Amino acid sequence: MELPFAESYKIKMVEPIRKSTREEREEWIKTAKYNLFNLRSDQVFIDLLTDSGTGAMSDRQWAAMMLGDESYAGASSYYNLKSAIKNILGFDYFLPTHQGRAAENVLFSALVKEGDVVPGNSHFDTTKGHIEFRKAKAIDCTIDEAFNTTIQHPFKGNIDLTKLETVLSQHPKEQIPMIIVTVTCNSSGGQPVSMQNLKDVYALAKQYGIRVIFDSARFAENAYFIKLREEGYQDKSIKEIVKEMYQYADGMTMSSKKDAIVNMGGFIGFKEEELFKKACQFNIIYEGYITYGGMSGRDMNALAQGLDEGTEFEYLETRIRQVAYLGERLKKLGVPVQEPFGGHAIFIDAKRFLPHLPKEEFVAQTLAIELYKEAGIRGVEIGTLLADRDPETRENRYPALELVRLAIPRRVYTNNHMDVIAVACKNVYDRREQITRGYQITNESAIMRHFTVELTSAEEKAHVMI
Ligand SMILES: *Cc1c(COP(=O)(O)O)cnc(C)c1O
Repeated sequence: MELPFAESYKIKMVEPIRKSTREEREEWIKTAKYNLFNLRSDQVFIDLLTDSGTGAMSDRQWAAMMLGDESYAGASSYYNLKSAIKNILGFDYFLPTHQGRAAENVLFSALVKEGDVVPGNSHFDTTKGHIEFRKAKAIDCTIDEAFNTTIQHPFKGNIDLTKLETVLSQHPKEQIPMIIVTVTCNSSGGQPVSMQNLKDVYALAKQYGIRVIFDSARFAENAYFIKLREEGYQDKSIKEIVKEMYQYADGMTMSSKKDAIVNMGGFIGFKEEELFKKACQFNIIYEGYITYGGMSGRDMNALAQGLDEGTEFEYLETRIRQVAYLGERLKKLGVPVQEPFGGHAIFIDAKRFLPHLPKEEFVAQTLAIELYKEAGIRGVEIGTLLADRDPETRENRYPALELVRLAIPRRVYTNNHMDVIAVACKNVYDRREQITRGYQITNESAIMRHFTVELTSAEEKAHVMI
């Protein structure tokens, strides 16, 4: 008999979590104005809000923290991180930042101006936020296959070269500060970009004299998918694949809270010395001196160790197989999920789950709320709330996909938790026809509204109006 698969680690420290009753949850979510971000974590049983900063650090990372050097300038921890970034990613210059969006803020301060366009593959929300905040435009050039959750395509994060070339040829070079390639592509479902596509995008960019920046939060998961799915990479190590990927980038922004398995941190990697120097000024203003940039020495040490562990095949295999385990369970139970499964999360297709619900009542948010009420599971809406309003017309933007993301924290939950999640989804699915009304906004902010939006049940609102 073939031995079954098992995790490549054992557990040394545990944190209790608590179940609640349906009545408690209904009360809590109402008080939270039907925004899952407003819940207290102890009101949640299984927290799949994000895989960002929620991972479990290893014994080696904790050990590295004890050796943190808290000197203001030139700390040994800075040099540890510098050499990890050079060895694993290949960048000569880097700036630490407190997280990924801070890296975007610093880099875009140096690069993006009003009227610019920034093509890419489904820009992440903070990335798009930082572009639009500077009155520039993010242009989505993802391949069309990404927007159909039933199509099997190994690299749904890929950039459509024709779409990209249209943007590059229709704007003067001075108006395109960079192309952003997100690996894996978060907004389209944690879908990977192929090495071939990275290579082709880079070649096209160079033809037009434009720089390529990788938004790198899940670069290691991207490398894992290249190893499994792309011809010619089966026998290469993750570290070799990662090295090759970054040959096709001029720079990178990183949220270390994902694939580097730390709770806080980020950085920018540069190949161009001149751009690095320009960005240094902004790092000092916004983040901190260039050798710590918003991170403590111990955190830089843990990050250096995390970059190494996060690019090991055994770790990635454990991680991505757990995500796929949940995906398979849901699929078997008939719940409509995006395929192929992404690296860090399973995405439920809310439009296929609740086809009768009007899009004006926030289909994916409605489903996320139902799942919380069912079992205390906190997922997140990737739909109309997240897509926000058009900055010019202020109309709601209705995205092609309404998804509920179930993001799996790294090294945190067991497959028993995955089983609970799967059955909870199935229970909601079985009573989907009884879910006839969604929600309406009562309060929202001008930018990135999903974090703070307040909602009310569309049904209750209708009663009030009568
Ligand atoms: C998380 C993330 C960011 C932002 O990083 P934070 O650390 O949350 O600020 C940017 N891009 C992508 C693709 C991400 O997943």
